[in-house]
Amino acid sequence: MRLSQLLMPTLREVPADAEIPSHVLMLKAGLMRKLAAGIYVYLPLGKRVLKKVEEIVREEMDREGSQEVLMSALIPAELFKETGRWDVFGPEMFKLKDRNERDFCLGPTHEEVFTDLVRNEVKSYRQLPLILYQIQTKFRDERRPRFGVMRSREFIMKDAYSFDADWEGLDESFNKMYRAYCRIFDRCGLKYLVVEADPGAMGGRDSKEFMVISSVGEAVIAYCDSCGYAANEEKAECLIESRDEEMLEIEKVYTPNVKTIEELVDFLKISPSKFVKTLIYKAKGKVVAALVRGDRDINETKLLNVLGIREEELELADGPLVEEVTGAKVGFAGPLGLKGEVTLVVDSEIPQLRNFIVGANETDYHIKNVNYGRDFKGDIVADIKSVVEGDRCPRCGAPLKIARGIEVGHIFKLGTKYSEALGATYTDEEGNEKPIVMGCYGIGINRTVAAIIEQHHDEKGIIWPMSVAPYHVIVVPVNVSDEEQKQIAEKIYNKLLEEKLEVLIDDRDVRAGVKFNDADLIGIPVRVTIGKKVKEGIVEIKLREREEVEEVKVEEAVRRVKQIVEEKLRELS
Ligand SMILES: [Zn+2]
Repeated sequence: MRLSQLLMPTLREVPADAEIPSHVLMLKAGLMRKLAAGIYVYLPLGKRVLKKVEEIVREEMDREGSQEVLMSALIPAELFKETGRWDVFGPEMFKLKDRNERDFCLGPTHEEVFTDLVRNEVKSYRQLPLILYQIQTKFRDERRPRFGVMRSREFIMKDAYSFDADWEGLDESFNKMYRAYCRIFDRCGLKYLVVEADPGAMGGRDSKEFMVISSVGEAVIAYCDSCGYAANEEKAECLIESRDEEMLEIEKVYTPNVKTIEELVDFLKISPSKFVKTLIYKAKGKVVAALVRGDRDINETKLLNVLGIREEELELADGPLVEEVTGAKVGFAGPLGLKGEVTLVVDSEIPQLRNFIVGANETDYHIKNVNYGRDFKGDIVADIKSVVEGDRCPRCGAPLKIARGIEVGHIFKLGTKYSEALGATYTDEEGNEKPIVMGCYGIGINRTVAAIIEQHHDEKGIIWPMSVAPYHVIVVPVNVSDEEQKQIAEKIYNKLLEEKLEVLIDDRDVRAGVKFNDADLIGIPVRVTIGKKVKEGIVEIKLREREEVEEVKVEEAVRRVKQIVEEKLRELS
């Protein structure tokens, strides 16, 4: 492809609303453009990268025996009503009506559609197991689209669904997808962690996420270098240390105007871990008091799961409600003597603590030497805390580390939730009708592209791994007015094409600096520069990922480039 003809509108300036490197670089390198908030169009270079990632995904899915299909993006409401998700999705679902006033949506996910296909076409155990997948556009009306294609309203997903006769079969399908995903992300040149995730609203069990470690990731991961344990923050646990101290007499202390943990630490000169804080929530109309150690945070997703409610059904209580429940000003809540009907949710660490301090439910007072069991009991004792760096690994006790990650893939055992709701059954060998056991498996294609950029870039631009680069090589004649440079460049370009390499030639009549900047920005792995030394029969080969330049004879250039490209592709195969 000739750069003089390629639609590659690179930008010199950083686009105003782009916050993270991948978003900046996808715009600057002319991979994509924004059409509306959270909606992007792909230009030729971006489309080529998407296609490469999709092709890797296809090869690895097919290798494990799964079969590609294509569902409709436009889905009749009835299917989502059958599983109750027409309402569950809420404003995230793009809903619309056809000319006959029938309800449809633009698919945010496809469990229902795949299950519908299978309930109509699969009747016997002989037709199982089955893994089907598609690469398809999904639509979600995100409240706050951001970070470019990391959180957009329209995105391409590979979604797969497995159908098995029993849970053992599902385990096998799950392991196949696990293997396929590892190979896919390895081939994309990504460093990732496989973390235990919260099954959450999807129901089911055994949920793993593929997380690309990156400082711009939206997810927080706790992981252990010693044993390999890794979990996202909604799921991560830690060892609880029990304290064998004698229980002391309870004591009320006067703490005038001391409302926050920081003020208490100052006032009483005691570590925040000696306090237990009480947060009052409104949960689906009821009052909940949640307790965690003073130096910890409540993980609201864990709390939601414990209470069995949805995100929008939980909110922190406002001042008047706190005062009504505690009988005191805000800042003095505690577990002893709350008024009215209050559900007390106690973090699993609290029963192990001794002689801690809590709010007294009386303005300007706290209570010392409180002990769980002796002085109060919770309605629910469960893990509702966020783990922090240095907490001990639940498996081996080593200190946990915390990192941020970009979720690029998710594999998940659904069980019979959808097959039961939609009546997808099969007849077993004895003639009994049973629900099909399902799994679902997703990869965000655009997000994977962005994650690759997050891990492979420098201040000059993108550094594509060879496996997903839009082109392998760029041939740069420094001065196209120089007839010799031009001719040699054209000759090398054509020979590389004959060798079936993917090649760009920068035949534009622009300054050399512009050419080099663009080549670096769009991240083509190999650059062949044809400059003044061509008079001595020499051209330069430079890898985007390295500083050094290799000088080779003109007649050896093609062979050397081909060798480099093949080597790099092999490393990522
Ligand atoms: Zn460990």
